Amino acid sequence: MNTVSDKAIKFLNKKPQLFINNEWVDSKRGETFPTINPSNGKTLMQISVAGKDDVDAAVLAAREAFKKRVRDMNPSKRAAMIFKLAELIERDLDILSQLECLDNGKPLNRAVADVKAAVYHLKYYAGWADKIEGSVIPVHSPNVMVQTRREPLGVVGLIVPWNFPLVMAIWKLSPALACGNCCILKPAEQTSVTALYLGQLILEAGFPPGMVQILTGDGETGSLLTHHNDIDKVGFTGSTEVGKKVLEASAKSNLKKVSLELGGKSPNIIFDDADIKRVEESLVWASFYNSGQECTLGSRIYIQNKKLDQVLNGLVKKTKALTIDEGFRNPDLGPLVSDEQLTRVKGYIHHGKKETELILGGNKIEGKLSAGYFIEPTIFRTDNHDAKIIKDEIFGPVVTVSSFEDEEELIGYTNDTRYGLASAIWTQDISRAYRVAREIEAGVVWINGYDMFHPAVPFGGYKESGIGREMGKSALDLYTQEKSIWTNL
Ligand code: NAD
Ligand code: MG
Repeated sequence: MNTVSDKAIKFLNKKPQLFINNEWVDSKRGETFPTINPSNGKTLMQISVAGKDDVDAAVLAAREAFKKRVRDMNPSKRAAMIFKLAELIERDLDILSQLECLDNGKPLNRAVADVKAAVYHLKYYAGWADKIEGSVIPVHSPNVMVQTRREPLGVVGLIVPWNFPLVMAIWKLSPALACGNCCILKPAEQTSVTALYLGQLILEAGFPPGMVQILTGDGETGSLLTHHNDIDKVGFTGSTEVGKKVLEASAKSNLKKVSLELGGKSPNIIFDDADIKRVEESLVWASFYNSGQECTLGSRIYIQNKKLDQVLNGLVKKTKALTIDEGFRNPDLGPLVSDEQLTRVKGYIHHGKKETELILGGNKIEGKLSAGYFIEPTIFRTDNHDAKIIKDEIFGPVVTVSSFEDEEELIGYTNDTRYGLASAIWTQDISRAYRVAREIEAGVVWINGYDMFHPAVPFGGYKESGIGREMGKSALDLYTQEKSIWTNL
């Protein structure tokens, strides 16, 4: 098995503190909680809880920095700092991926891929920092000039979940910083370690005091941010349920801007004419990647009648071959992130057994892994389109397999959901692929592939899967506001 580096161990022994105004500070109330290694249930590190006084201090520092240091900073200087941060993350790839693996449970090589994705993302947005332009608009008279400017929002709160802790933090930080905002990052309470490590690198990269703060804590800390009257925007990724609370908090406070990346229940659609070999290679990962803790998980599989048995049998065979173990041993799948998540997933499996047919899995893994939150990848077969497990996002390694006869029937099933994040279509008929892609109510459609991402390509949800588009040029709209300046010449 791989071993934890001395530098990672040293970081895990760090005193629980918050990162405010480029300093590590104790929380005012001194409250802490343990973050757990989900592979063995043991405490990994003590984490500080940011209370109201700490949130106020962070907001004040960010506001001051915005006014005095960040708003009018040379954009190419912002670009250079973001690029430097990317390079430092690259330098510390081993430490960051080890910390992510221990804290979240994911396989080490997947954590490495996550860190690389974070680096790529930062570099992409470093490139944008000095290219955020306004326009000149022709109006009724040649003697009137209208110029638009894209200005930063000011102080932004960035609240992220636990499934891709570092990547989610960087997805938000990189466009927010590129646009010239001051940020308060709040990682998920289950996985704060890599966000804290980022604090060290932010210092080293030379960001001015107050440009980035990192506040740990649970939903209460998040709620203090969303209700704060001096925060201009909250960028949130997490559950639809909490996303609605974020909007509510905005309405109850200063009507701060809100962008939301929320849950999903994405259809993975396989037509009779699909290249079945390619389907089989992809399907097991689309179904169980990150132990199913993925907002884009292809959790509803629809297979056209003629190929149902072949594709389902292929999936069962590939799923049986998946290795499950502690993340450090580089298995295919690691544990779920927490005991709470395990209980939640087991609850859904219980429902699934009552309403549909269990084909494979369904059990917690005992034996040498019994202290961790490991569960078998689980496949249900059903044509009960009202079953709870086909309606709700489970956020675990659980999929349903359903059949369909034709396109019309399929579209009905596909769009019969409150979510609309991702989807995939497998067919060799390009006309059909585009016809169906247009009909699907989701922010992403993958044709003959799954989980394809690039920093330049917008990502976000239809319906209750979110508001706004992260990534690409679209994310610049989330972290700037437009001003029109009229001049009578
Ligand atoms: P969650 O909504 O419980 O928590 C997300 C974050 O919000 C955490 O940092 C948490 O501390 C904070 N939070 C909790 N209550 C809050 C409140 N009242 N006010 C403000 N902040 C609060 O979600 P989770 O369980 O950590 O993550 C799983 C969910 O995230 C899934 O539903 C998944 O689909 C979604 N997700 C979506 C995307 C996406 O890009 N669309 C990506 C990853 C995860
Ligand atoms: Mg943890």
